[in-house]
Amino acid sequence: MIQALLSTSSCYRSMHVAFRGTNTRSLLKTYTTKALSSGDQLHGYLVQQVQKVEELELTAILLEHQQTGAQHLHIDRNDANNVFAVGFHTPVKNSTGVAHVLEHTTLCGSHRYPVRDPFFKMLNRSLATYMNALTGSDYTVYPFATTNAVDYKNLEGVYMDAVFHPLLSELDYKQEGWRLEHDDLTDLSSPINFKGVVYNEMKGRISDPGYLFYKQSQQSMYPGTTYENASGGDPTFITDLTYQDLLDFHKTHYHPSNAKFYTYGNFSLEDHLATIRTKLNGFGKSEIPFVNKIPDRWAKPRKVVSNCALDPMVPVDRQTRLSYSFLTNDIHDSFETFSMRVLSTLLLEGHSSPMYEALIDSHLGTSFSSNTGYNRNTRISNLTIGLQGVKTQDVDQVETRIKQVLEKARMDGFDSRRIEATLHQMELGSKHKTSKFGLTIMHWITSGWFNGADPIDLLHINKYIARLRQELQKGPYFESLIDKYLLRNTHVLTYIMHPDASFNTVTANEEKDRLARKIQQEEKQQQQQLMEQAQQLEKKQNIIDDVSCLPTLRIDDIPLKQPKIVVEHTGLCNTPIQWRTTSTNGITYFRAICTLPPLMDDLKQYVPLFCDALHSLGTKSQSMAELDDEIRLYTGGLGFSATTSTNHSDINAMEEGIMFYGNCLDRNIEKMYDLTRRLIRETNFDNIPKLRSLIRRNASYLNNSIVNSGHMYAKTYASATLTPSSASNELLSGITQIKFMNQLAAKSDDDLLDVIEHLKQIATLAIHQTSLRVAVTCGEEAINDNMKYLSGLITGLPENADIKFSKEIEHTTQFDPTFKKTFIGIPSQVDFSAKSLRGVPYTHIDSAKLQILCSLLTSRYLHREIREKNGAYGGGAIYGALTGLLTFYSYRDPKSNTTVETYNKAMDWVRRYTFTDQDLTEAKLSLFQQVDAPVNVSMEGMPQFISGLSDNMRQIRREQLLSVTQNDIKDVAEQYLNQAYGITILGDEKKSGKDLPSDWKIHIP
Ligand SMILES: [Zn+2]
Repeated sequence: MIQALLSTSSCYRSMHVAFRGTNTRSLLKTYTTKALSSGDQLHGYLVQQVQKVEELELTAILLEHQQTGAQHLHIDRNDANNVFAVGFHTPVKNSTGVAHVLEHTTLCGSHRYPVRDPFFKMLNRSLATYMNALTGSDYTVYPFATTNAVDYKNLEGVYMDAVFHPLLSELDYKQEGWRLEHDDLTDLSSPINFKGVVYNEMKGRISDPGYLFYKQSQQSMYPGTTYENASGGDPTFITDLTYQDLLDFHKTHYHPSNAKFYTYGNFSLEDHLATIRTKLNGFGKSEIPFVNKIPDRWAKPRKVVSNCALDPMVPVDRQTRLSYSFLTNDIHDSFETFSMRVLSTLLLEGHSSPMYEALIDSHLGTSFSSNTGYNRNTRISNLTIGLQGVKTQDVDQVETRIKQVLEKARMDGFDSRRIEATLHQMELGSKHKTSKFGLTIMHWITSGWFNGADPIDLLHINKYIARLRQELQKGPYFESLIDKYLLRNTHVLTYIMHPDASFNTVTANEEKDRLARKIQQEEKQQQQQLMEQAQQLEKKQNIIDDVSCLPTLRIDDIPLKQPKIVVEHTGLCNTPIQWRTTSTNGITYFRAICTLPPLMDDLKQYVPLFCDALHSLGTKSQSMAELDDEIRLYTGGLGFSATTSTNHSDINAMEEGIMFYGNCLDRNIEKMYDLTRRLIRETNFDNIPKLRSLIRRNASYLNNSIVNSGHMYAKTYASATLTPSSASNELLSGITQIKFMNQLAAKSDDDLLDVIEHLKQIATLAIHQTSLRVAVTCGEEAINDNMKYLSGLITGLPENADIKFSKEIEHTTQFDPTFKKTFIGIPSQVDFSAKSLRGVPYTHIDSAKLQILCSLLTSRYLHREIREKNGAYGGGAIYGALTGLLTFYSYRDPKSNTTVETYNKAMDWVRRYTFTDQDLTEAKLSLFQQVDAPVNVSMEGMPQFISGLSDNMRQIRREQLLSVTQNDIKDVAEQYLNQAYGITILGDEKKSGKDLPSDWKIHIP
């Protein structure tokens, strides 16, 4: 994947995308002019199917390009956020990562656009709301989304030329794939190392034991098929990939006959077809190599045992992961696939699910393993049940318990209320109006479509719900599925992964040996070539391209006026209410914030646990399992979370609070508010067994998040001593919170009494009417019900904080920033770093200038130095308009000390660089992609509610952003970049933590 930080989770991972439906409102009418039916011919295409899907308010049209056989699915829908995607079927025969390296190299320049990295260049010349490239387990897809018709044409042209006519130069292949390179490009005697973007990306990925477990268990499940390989590449084998392999793979796979096109939105289908057709001229039909996807069914179950790195934050005896994977149905059968999804939910989701009770509540494990659930990203799907945080001696017991649960479910079936709750969730899911619906559909259907399922069939919800109800009436339906796929199945894999203290050393030694072998293969003379080639690559990386061949939007494509979101403010029972009345498709969205008094840190660090406790412990009269069923039956979910926001006009002031939120169909408004009130008022904090499993689950989740979000943790830690709200963020969600949660996880039952006391103190200090404010988003017709039942929630809360706990309240408000350099040891082969400086509040005139400065630093300087040259997966600078902090960061970084030097040279770079008008325009376009990105209906008015940003403030800021000049950039750089800063590196202390200057502090958890 290319756009490193925007959606890292979607790279290679099976895409478990929540199916949440429907449209962003738009006044444009549907543009497809002709009513089409199957058999019609249009611009060289044959219409194969036309179907309306009422519940999603769309018409789906499936076509085939007659000359090449390219497939095209168009989703005609009244939504302005149009999507284009072109994808190829790319099953692989080994783990060299050929499909993945090709995905990267394809975007490094094409015949019509022979500039370096047109994809990244286009990020700055467009108002795209999404641009990406993804390698899945057997396909590669290149999608974008935009609301602007000119932009759509521009990007479509660049994408089509990239995939069908890429340059695929050898130097780009080496930059993106792998290469041998001297550490010092001027010194032949300096050490040689492996470098390359994909090489380091995958080293970073497999540092995550959750990913490793998921990937390796999947590979073991499908021997003899394409899925036994790592499609993203395994670092051990990536270095076997050759340039010729890459060229061959492109030739055989990136052909229209092997392509699927996807278009979505309110732009005209006829236009799409006419454009695409011209780009496919010259191609005929081509034969695509066969790759097996269907494994031979095993005669008996199999078991695989492997190792992963030891996590120093977690007790050694609680780090085993294990899972049971059952090979299930062919995904061509859409109804069976739908039924298996429902079955998986019934078995695994929520406190009342039998697997949750048997495995998590019983403390056999801390949480489900990363591969748990129904996986339909392979031609033959699988259902997996697994645990992490298991004691080594409990492995056999887990297997017995899973079997017992399955036997019982086959005998007794499932409670009809739980089945109804699951179907209710699906109904509600299809009514949500999200701004990224076109992309959601694309992710939903892609894998099935490439595996031969009918893509339109995959969109039907109501049809399958109705059929499921019929089946349930006929007899024990889920019971028969359990019997067929889970109990009488012999293709079952037990996958066990134990932690191993020597894992990282073994991995590093393997790389060292492989490196020595590769170097030996190079003769002395070739080493000279190696140096020349590295110098050539560096020269190429340093060239400032003439990008004028690329299409671009102009500055006047950015609308001058901020769209206004009309909200109304009223009071109800002395509580301020913000109303956003709009078309919501029959759903009410509710948010409330209780402002916290200034608590002592000792107590404040419990706030996140308090929030989770509210929807995890149950009440005195109802178990969490019973409550969870009610929540699923009547709402789209209820939640509680800690919030911190910096004041828009003073970065030394902030608000801390607890937010409650939920949504429901309008017919369930009363139930939603009543459930919320019961959770807040009646939660039973004395439920020690539930509290223990909550703490363990949280600790496990947080520990696992470090290797994926290390840059976020580095950033939070680096800024923690700069402003009060970042100090609060570190305490509530940073490394400090993770350490705290691990301490709690190690406590005995007796010690938990003290934890319970703290949670009760927060309940009495934090939740009361006087500090409450509420926001409701709903349709006109639901206002009365909301007023009526909301008042029940408000008056059900205590009026004031309990004064007996007032000693827990902090009275100082003075904040003095300090500046620290910290190295934090984590079990990862790659580093994460962040350097943070104080800026200004949202309303300050320099805020917009700092934001443009960061955009330019990223695209003109840091991207080249950190990603292209230093080989990190991502890096840049961001300015937090709302936090008032300027932060440099790197992600999956093989050499963080070099990156730190790059950060420190930023000021010199600004002084040397001459900013052109085009630079400024591009920085503004890329910023307005975010400023003007379509938002979900549920989020409209939230900047106002959470941070107090009025339409007027946002309009002023818009004008400030648009009017930033070259001189402004130089001025703010001089003024702010030279200040004192906080800096943090997360990485392997044996590698990156040694030889740090003496003013660095080293923490090893
Ligand atoms: Zn990638």
